[in-house]
Amino acid sequence: MKMANSSTFDLSALPFSVPGHFYKGNLHTHCTESDGDYPAEEVIRRYQEKGYDFLALSDHFLECYGFPVTDTRELRSADFTTLISAELHTGNLHNGETWHVLAVGLPLDFAPPEEHEGIESLSKRAFDAGAYIGLVHPAWYGLAPEDARVLPFAHAVEVYNHGSQMENDRGDGWALCDMLLNEGVRLHGFATDDAHHLTHDAFGGWIHVKADSLDADLLLESLRAGRYYSSQGPILKNIECVDGEILVECSAVDAIMVTGRGSRAEKVLGTDLTSVRLPMKRFADAFFRVTVVDSGGRKAWSNPVWLNGD
Ligand SMILES: [Zn+2]
Ligand SMILES: [Zn+2]
Repeated sequence: MKMANSSTFDLSALPFSVPGHFYKGNLHTHCTESDGDYPAEEVIRRYQEKGYDFLALSDHFLECYGFPVTDTRELRSADFTTLISAELHTGNLHNGETWHVLAVGLPLDFAPPEEHEGIESLSKRAFDAGAYIGLVHPAWYGLAPEDARVLPFAHAVEVYNHGSQMENDRGDGWALCDMLLNEGVRLHGFATDDAHHLTHDAFGGWIHVKADSLDADLLLESLRAGRYYSSQGPILKNIECVDGEILVECSAVDAIMVTGRGSRAEKVLGTDLTSVRLPMKRFADAFFRVTVVDSGGRKAWSNPVWLNGD
């Protein structure tokens, strides 16, 4: 079946068809530069031990910690790299909570907020400096679409925050992300740990980023372009369009779902599913994204793919 707008189906928006390797990493972590329990070296050692390829230490960019942009460059090695990052705070959400915004790929000399500088200006400075901007743990503190609209340049929503999931059962960020996607906002989604203690809050959510090599700048470029997927365990091997259907290939799972605008969805349930094809027709005027669920309830999520051109 040839779809009228199939020419706008941009497979390169997903990481699967582009050249390179997948690298596993966590974009949201804290160390003793702010309120984490362990120094940077120990946090990185633990993540490396668990098979991660990269880590972003994203300490709280607050005056009480000396506005840290944690310098992890000396902790890089041939098979592990770091992204210079911080979690930005200034001003309040509509509900009165202090803003939290993740900035990955910051210059080490990123300037602290000026007096009365709002989150829009602070985040835009980070964006202009080349950082990947993420709206983090929306459910944890009640971030609403009206808040998200203040940062139209944000790249992505943190769609799973393992620390929040374990601490107040509010780890999900897809609810907020989908509301924005329904409005036509083009955002990606990323899973993280937001680990502070490296106990219950670590190694539960991560991303696999496609890049030519394990280089911080190349990883950052892929992040900004959305060439990654998120996981709690399952592996996504391929998602592509074949004859008007969405082909999904993955590690063995019990559910493969495609979701889109509003309530639009297609699914296959079973046991040890590794390859399914689902009709694309219902998603053609907006977007789709893929979720797989393994027998232990662990999920992996693709980024949204937009089918309706610009
Ligand atoms: Zn936070
Ligand atoms: Zn955090």
